[in-house]
Amino acid sequence: MTEIKVLQKVLASNDALAQSHRKIFDQNNVTAINIMSAPGSGKTSLLEKTIEKIKNNKKIFVIEGDIKGNLDAMRLLKKGADCIQINTQGQCHLDGFMLSQALPKIDLSKVELLFIENVGNLVCPAEFDLGTHYNVMMLSTPEGSDKPVKYPLMFSKADLLLVNKIDLLPYVQFDFDNLEKSLKKLKPKLKLIKISCKTGEGIEEWVDWVLGEIGKRRNRR
Ligand code: MG
Ligand code: ZN
Repeated sequence: MTEIKVLQKVLASNDALAQSHRKIFDQNNVTAINIMSAPGSGKTSLLEKTIEKIKNNKKIFVIEGDIKGNLDAMRLLKKGADCIQINTQGQCHLDGFMLSQALPKIDLSKVELLFIENVGNLVCPAEFDLGTHYNVMMLSTPEGSDKPVKYPLMFSKADLLLVNKIDLLPYVQFDFDNLEKSLKKLKPKLKLIKISCKTGEGIEEWVDWVLGEIGKRRNRR
């Protein structure tokens, strides 16, 4: 079937770009983190909180992926982050080609921590490696705890799972036991942090994870 071959080719050329981007990140001592979730889970709110906490001791840059507009990028610029917007013009994920257009516009020698906020979508962002060192997946409590069963690829590609909006737990159906049960089958060692971008709960632990991983990577060099 022709369609399948086309998709394989697309993914193969994407993987090649991902490798070359990873090399560029490493050469510049940049730690790159891809953040993925469904729309409205709180990716931009997480970045706002993160920038507030660490912009004074780490040089942060954010690449914002959205189908249209720059609302999220404007929010982050307001917090004092350097940021550029990629508009995918309808595509529901970021890919290596889009990133190859954005990276030359960034002075990576001045960046320590690069966040890439992917397009809100639980499906194909997981298929397109961006060459980042980490994939962080965010699930918010109103979405329900059944998501790893329904969207396994996204969860199996994650290096860290953030469960956001835990302040809403009294009002929504979300079963942590159920979540942990399905994660155990899918990715038993996946680290999970419960957070609320609204109350700030868990943000410290998330920031410690980020800074810890930067430290680990530095020690490896
Ligand atoms: Mg956003
Ligand atoms: Zn897509």
